[in-house]
Amino acid sequence: MAGDMQLTCSDCGQEFTFTAADQQFFSERGFSTPKRCKPCRQAKKADGGGGGGGYRSASAQGTPVICSNCGQPTTVPFEPRGDRPVYCRDCYVARKGGGGGGRSAAR
Ligand SMILES: [Zn+2]
Ligand SMILES: [Zn+2]
Repeated sequence: MAGDMQLTCSDCGQEFTFTAADQQFFSERGFSTPKRCKPCRQAKKADGGGGGGGYRSASAQGTPVICSNCGQPTTVPFEPRGDRPVYCRDCYVARKGGGGGGRSAAR
């Protein structure tokens, strides 16, 4: 199973070479035979998924806020209310695990 394959691109209709190295690369990863030539595939990739189905991980997105304690810009995974202080991760953890009791009147 050595040797290049000549395939026809379904996008531009041009013949392109599916090299033996590429075949091995594809079969190793369980990919099926490509339908498009390399330039077309790269053009599709660079397009950024204009045809729909663009996968973007927005789960890590937060709301940019200023920490009420240290004043540093940070992001919180929720929508902060104007009348409530928001803390950066460090301050939040420090406040939570600080006193150990919860009430700050222990001093
Ligand atoms: Zn093509
Ligand atoms: Zn802070």
